[in-house]
Amino acid sequence: MSAPYPWLAAPWAELVARAARDALGHAYLLCGREGLGKFAFAEHFARGLLCEQRPADGQACGACRGCLLNASGNHPDLKLLTLEEERKSIVIDQVRDLIEFFTLKAHYHGRKIGIVYPADTMNNASANALLKILEEPPASALLLLVASRPALLPATIHSRCQRINFELPAWDVRERWLSAQLATRDKAPALESLTLCGAPLEVLAQLDSARPQLMNDVIAALHQHLTGRGNPLEVARGFADVEVRRYLDTLELSVQAAAQLRAGHLPPQLRLSANSQRQLQEISDKLHFDSLLSYLDQVGASRAMVLRSSGVRGAEVIENLWQSWMKSMQLEYAP
Ligand SMILES: [Zn+2]
Repeated sequence: MSAPYPWLAAPWAELVARAARDALGHAYLLCGREGLGKFAFAEHFARGLLCEQRPADGQACGACRGCLLNASGNHPDLKLLTLEEERKSIVIDQVRDLIEFFTLKAHYHGRKIGIVYPADTMNNASANALLKILEEPPASALLLLVASRPALLPATIHSRCQRINFELPAWDVRERWLSAQLATRDKAPALESLTLCGAPLEVLAQLDSARPQLMNDVIAALHQHLTGRGNPLEVARGFADVEVRRYLDTLELSVQAAAQLRAGHLPPQLRLSANSQRQLQEISDKLHFDSLLSYLDQVGASRAMVLRSSGVRGAEVIENLWQSWMKSMQLEYAP
C-alpha cells in the first residue's frame, strides 16, 4: 500500500492503474473536505509519476535522479501553484507562469505536472486563464487541481476535469490511524475532537492549536444564544484567537449538523459528544428547517467573501454572523 494515508488507497490504486495503462486524463479535480490529505495525495502521485524507476505501485523510490530533484523541490517538470504570502487568491500571473511551464518541453520522462492548491482560491481571471490549458492541454500535461470548496470554481473548469471525490473514511479507520499517530500522547482529547470534526488530519492540526475543542465551543455558543439575547461583539471576541476560515468551516459544520438532526438523522461519520448532541438537538427542535438553511447560506456567503477578497476583517465577519444569528432567533421567537 503506497497511498499517503490508508483511507486514500482506493483512489490511489485507481489512478496508478490508469497511469500504468497510459490512460491518464489531462486534468483531475481532487475534491473533498479539509483534513483528508488531498494535497499530499496529489504531491505523492506526481512524485511517483516522475520517479525514473517507474514504480508499479506508484510509490516514488526516493533515490533516483527524479526523486532527488523532487526532494530538493527543484524538479523542472513539476510546478506547484499555491497561495503566495499575504494573498487570498491564486492570481493570474501565477497561472501565466503555469501556462509557460507547460509550453516548454519536458526535461526528463516526457511528462509535465502542475498542481494547483487550493484551486478554489483562484479568482475569475485566474480560472479563465487556466481554461487555456484545460481546453488544449499539451500532450505531456497533467494538471491536478485540489479543492475543498469545488463549488467556488466555475462550471467551465468542472466540465474539463475528471473529478475524484475523497470521502470521509469509516470511523474505525480514522480512529486506528489517529491512535497510531498519537503513540504516547493522551488520546482522549483527540478522539473527542475526532468525533466532533471528523477529518483525521484536521484533528491532528487542532490538537496543536489553541482551540482543540472549537466545534464544542461553537455549538455551545449557538445554543446559549437561542433566545436571541446577548451581545454579538462579545461572543465574537470569544473566538478572536481562531483563524477565520477554520471558524467558518466549524460553524458551517455545526449548523449543518443541526439541520441534519432536524431532518431526522446525523450522518454516521459525525459522532458528536452527548452534550453537543443534546445542544444541537435543542437548536434544531426550536428552529425551522428553512431558518437553519438560510443561516447556512449566510455562512457560505461569508466564506466565499473571505476566500475571494483580501481586505476582509475576520473579526468583523464573525461578529456579523453572530448578529444575524441573534436576529433570526429574535424573529423565530417573536410573539
Ligand atoms: Zn525515484
